[in-house]
Amino acid sequence: MTLAATPTGVTARVPGKINLQLVVGPLREDGYHELATVFHAVGLYDHVIVTPSDDWSVRVGGRHADRVPQDGSNLALRAARLLAEESGGQQPVSITIDKQIPVAAGMAGGSADAAGALVACDALWGLGLSRDELAVLAARLGSDVPFLLHGGTAIGSGRGEQLAPVLARGRLHWVLWISRHGGLSTPEVYAECDRLREAAGHTPPDPEPTGELLTALRTMESTAVGAALHNDLQEAAMSLDPTLATVVQAGLDLDVEGAVVSGSGPTVAFLVGSSDAAIDLTVGLAARGPEGDIVRVDGPVPGAQVVGSFTPS
Ligand code: ATP
Repeated sequence: MTLAATPTGVTARVPGKINLQLVVGPLREDGYHELATVFHAVGLYDHVIVTPSDDWSVRVGGRHADRVPQDGSNLALRAARLLAEESGGQQPVSITIDKQIPVAAGMAGGSADAAGALVACDALWGLGLSRDELAVLAARLGSDVPFLLHGGTAIGSGRGEQLAPVLARGRLHWVLWISRHGGLSTPEVYAECDRLREAAGHTPPDPEPTGELLTALRTMESTAVGAALHNDLQEAAMSLDPTLATVVQAGLDLDVEGAVVSGSGPTVAFLVGSSDAAIDLTVGLAARGPEGDIVRVDGPVPGAQVVGSFTPS
């Protein structure tokens, strides 16, 4: 019999998300809005690598790394420490994050890193927790963290942390426009949404995804999904960053099935009908749209997964 060697490091890969629909309901007493969203995980990934160490630490490289805290407030480090505490104490880890998910961009990159740290540390420490057990800790770390563990396409309700899977077969092709000029603060975008609603005398809706979207997702028919994309935060994000209206219009003037600002922005997601159409749109947006990074991704993809471990030789 050979005993499995304890790994000396584990790498987790975790995707970003976009919101196919985001319906913002009334403000709750705890300061959060009641919402309904349809999350969709797309193939733009951060990698989270954990190795045993004498002290807790985090280092960040990759896209927008200079905008990510490298201290105890980093969500991946908070996730690792929470799991250590809840499992009765573990040896500290040093965390390295390679970021591709843009920061403060409505794609839940910080939440993704937290989900990645949970699965990587679970594997490193040999805890063998189930996804449901990890999801309980995930919900304590942030509203989007449970979805980044789950992946795929799912309805989020409450603050977004209560998940129900969506029956969705097939693949969607997306082109993302990513701002180079810095992100939008999620609380500021919600506050702007409240302000615009109050000024317009608008009563918040009962938050529910539409039947049209859920029906369209059963077959992943891109024209129907494109017509059902919707985000209640879009107007607020555009009010704070007017470039976004120009970006959306540039895409709509080209051949797209639909366009939506993701979450609190400023990332804009364009849905197209094929991978060829995604290449054409990338070229068209680069030539005609405002300056930004343009990335092609498919969805849905799985949530946080261990993709490698180093074992002593
Ligand atoms: P939200 O999840 O609130 O919708 P977002 O997707 O727009 O946010 P994130 O990339 O998650 O944006 O970043 C939000 C803030 O979280 C950043 O401004 C950053 O200071 C902080 N943060 C903490 N840890 C991380 C991390 N590991 N990666 C990215 N941001 C982090």
